[in-house]
Amino acid sequence: MPVSGLPPYDDNNIFARILRGEIPSKKVYEDEWALAFHDINPQAPVHVLVVPKGKYCSFADFSAQASAEEIAGFIRAVGKVANQLGLEAPGYRMLSNMGAHGGQEVPHLHIHLFGGRPLGRMIPGA
Ligand code: 5GP
Repeated sequence: MPVSGLPPYDDNNIFARILRGEIPSKKVYEDEWALAFHDINPQAPVHVLVVPKGKYCSFADFSAQASAEEIAGFIRAVGKVANQLGLEAPGYRMLSNMGAHGGQEVPHLHIHLFGGRPLGRMIPGA
């Protein structure tokens, strides 16, 4: 069910609970700014989610409210995860769903990293 990508932030969203360690996840990377873990319902051979540690609903929320340090830390973490997963050489896709039209289901900003096979062009069916 798509959600709003706008504040207020819901402290009980599933990624907030994963960040607090209340729900297990298959972690692939963690630093001060970000946590990365395997998607529970992978859509490609590699499907990893990277989430900022701060409480942000969407890119609009994050880009407007996060500090420069948080933004840099999160973006660097996404790059490190892609590299660590061995996606740079074969290539991969980054995707982030925002709000109802984006099909966002979890109201905590996250970037999907897909890889492990050729992924086709842009939006399927478009
Ligand atoms: P969205 O549509 O919000 O961009 O995607 C949310 C993603 O979170 C989906 O790909 C979904 O499979 C994943 N997801 C939902 N619940 C869980 C969970 O409890 N653990 C993990 N690892 N992924 C989840």
